[in-house]
Amino acid sequence: MNKLAYIDEKIEQLKTDGVYRVLPINYGACANVINLNNKRTVNLSANNYLGLATHPRVIAAAQAATAKYGVGAGSVRTIVGNQDILENLENEIARFKREEAVTVFQSGLNCNIGTIPAITDKGDLIISDELNHASIIDGVKLSKADKAVFKHKDMVDLERVLIEKRSLYRNVLIITDGVFSMDGDLAPLPEIVKLAEKYFALIYVDDAHGSGVLGESGRGTVDHFHLNGKIDFIVGTLSKAIGCIGGYVASKQNVKTWLLHRGRPLLFSTALPPAAVAGATESIKLLSETDEFTKRLWDNGRYFKAAMKRLGFDIGHSETPITPIMVGNEALTMAFSKGLMAEGVFVSGIVFPTVPLGKGRLRVMLSAGHTKDDLDFAIAAFEKVGKALKIIA
Ligand SMILES: *Cc1c(COP(=O)(O)O)cnc(C)c1O
Repeated sequence: MNKLAYIDEKIEQLKTDGVYRVLPINYGACANVINLNNKRTVNLSANNYLGLATHPRVIAAAQAATAKYGVGAGSVRTIVGNQDILENLENEIARFKREEAVTVFQSGLNCNIGTIPAITDKGDLIISDELNHASIIDGVKLSKADKAVFKHKDMVDLERVLIEKRSLYRNVLIITDGVFSMDGDLAPLPEIVKLAEKYFALIYVDDAHGSGVLGESGRGTVDHFHLNGKIDFIVGTLSKAIGCIGGYVASKQNVKTWLLHRGRPLLFSTALPPAAVAGATESIKLLSETDEFTKRLWDNGRYFKAAMKRLGFDIGHSETPITPIMVGNEALTMAFSKGLMAEGVFVSGIVFPTVPLGKGRLRVMLSAGHTKDDLDFAIAAFEKVGKALKIIA
């Protein structure tokens, strides 16, 4: 008897459903052009928004830290994994974000699954935007608090939940992404702050796609809306625009003190490696020195979006350099992605269940690292494959 036959059945089902995949292999660094499956490919699907994953200063900082501090931290933070460079990184991020304190975790996902259960308890209510990221959903599942969902960005619906339920709970926590990564749209943070003040609720913003992208020199969505100091918990990632790995919670000092005692990934999983800590610190320094990276990212975003519109593609309603190319049908979406790959352009197709049925799209992630030549090459491929598949005329 094969005890694992049930796994084979599940894999067969993936194939029947047309969602089985073989991962492409990148034979090199994550950059504007990659060697994907041993083919030169313009990379339109990384979260490396500012190209910092391969910045010479970031690489040099990571190498120097490895030489001095070794490859692994060797312990969880609460034992002997709390290296001075990690403390320094937290201070640098706090200064950059203009928030009181910062607690660094091993990733953005770790922030959400560690922080949400630590700051909520039985007798509390979490109210979550229906399109929040999977790691928020997992963090909410780990909490003992009751849960409610409001319609995407719908402030009337959020207030409805607050009116119905506020008085039944001790603490109420409103959670939202800052930038929603499937459509590139922003949470209505000024309105959320108003409702939170009216109903005495806490606010938690996961700004994974806003950090390094929005606000002054990439300070994030909260800075973009000039709401510094008004959000109780701001999550950012060091894995996307910052180009390394890690995540952080910006908050008041008492929240940090509590997380160092009850944020389970800090207690039960080894601290970030020195290379990641030093690399992220250098990236934050670069952003503090200049806004050239964010400027180039937004320039590339405008250039690419204008070309897509001119070609007749439906590019949704993004407010950021994330550019969805709406296709609709799932099979057509995947065929479009495959056709582009054959032309040397990688763009991931996103279909149900990640987005609703019939809302398949390609999601283009632009970067400051793209040259105009890269973008023109990609635009020509979009035109050729889009016409062949009759997505555009
Ligand atoms: C990517 C992402 C995360 C996870 O960040 P990692 O650092 O890659 O773990 C968390 N939340 C949101 C909204 C994200 O987009």
